[in-house]
Amino acid sequence: MKAVFYNNWFAKLFLKEGYSTIMFFGLILTKQTKETFSRTTYEHECIHREQFADCAMLGGFLMLIAFFALQWWWAIVLPFTLFYILYLVEWLIKLIIQRDWRRVYRSISFEREAYDLQGEYMRPCAQRRSHRTLGWLKYF
Ligand SMILES: [Zn+2]
Repeated sequence: MKAVFYNNWFAKLFLKEGYSTIMFFGLILTKQTKETFSRTTYEHECIHREQFADCAMLGGFLMLIAFFALQWWWAIVLPFTLFYILYLVEWLIKLIIQRDWRRVYRSISFEREAYDLQGEYMRPCAQRRSHRTLGWLKYF
């Protein structure tokens, strides 16, 4: 397993009880040790990393339009932040509607895709489903 930061101080500081791992700007940060970290969690976070890459590409495209057509200089942050902006907006809208933050977490489209595909590594190669570019859109 690569690019995983075990026993990570940032994960320990910012993740609530019951949450152990986060994909943070492409890095996988976990409270767990290498021995306790599961392959399923690793696969889940790798799907988030691919979603982050999708959003970086989409954000780059939007940045070019906003930067050159509208002179919005701040659009330069879009490739790095679009994943988190979309995640937060969907979370807030669903929180207002559902009023149950645990249920909201599992209903966010990025999480639904990650939970749906995190166990695919256990299936035979020919039957495996994998993340597709912007695949999380179908989980809305
Ligand atoms: Zn997740």
